[in-house]
Amino acid sequence: MTNPISFVSLGPGEAGLVSLKGRQRLVEADCIFCPQTVARTGHPVSRAADIVSQLGVPAGALCFFRLPMSKERGAALLAYRALAAEARRLWMQGKRVCIVAEGDAGFYSSVHYVFERLREAGIPVEHVPGIPAFIAAGALAGLHVASQDERLTVAPGNISADEVAGLVEAGGTVVVMKLSQCADEMRRCITLHPGYSYHYFENVGTAGEVCLHEPESIVARQFPYFSLLIVKRPL
Ligand code: SAH
Repeated sequence: MTNPISFVSLGPGEAGLVSLKGRQRLVEADCIFCPQTVARTGHPVSRAADIVSQLGVPAGALCFFRLPMSKERGAALLAYRALAAEARRLWMQGKRVCIVAEGDAGFYSSVHYVFERLREAGIPVEHVPGIPAFIAAGALAGLHVASQDERLTVAPGNISADEVAGLVEAGGTVVVMKLSQCADEMRRCITLHPGYSYHYFENVGTAGEVCLHEPESIVARQFPYFSLLIVKRPL
């Protein structure tokens, strides 16, 4: 049986939070495709590669790809297509191929489009699940993220202050991902409803991890890409 192309979830940033199955796939891989971005300084950075390189993977197995972060779908589709084609080419040569993603590879994860493309082309693929950032964030703060009858809403940065308030007033918990895309709305929410329970997280699982609960300190923060907010009604 041919090995599938494995989409390995890396969790939020700490190598210890990669599953045993995920690690196994990575140490056996010939090629591990890691997402890379360009920092403000102009240097290429890859949080995924930082995690993978702590796992004892074969030297030289790492390779990099860049996916456009903009909402412009055309450029993104071209990049997915190119990554799928390269993964497929190596797989056809009998190589063991992994494509990694931060958090879980099926939760707001661009590489899932590549997974779907390969699956549609009849290439065997597998998704090794991982810990999403918001679950790791809840653990960091010792939160019971959702309990009893509470509903949990996860929003990807397109949520308004009023929508968050409506959900919280109804007794729900709201997780706001991609915080940098709705920074003004979330600052407005905090200013209008300072009595809610806010838990702000940045770079969970890395050396630069931040966890804040004071509304004033959260409002004053510049929300980087790797930040999220959990909002609840106070106990
Ligand atoms: N697949 C990822 C989500 C990717 S979407 C997962 O399962 O968690 C990208 C968003 O995830 C970021 O904008 C941020 O809101 C959140 N995120 C991912 N990693 C994070 C981290 N280490 N700390 C805080 N937020 C993180």
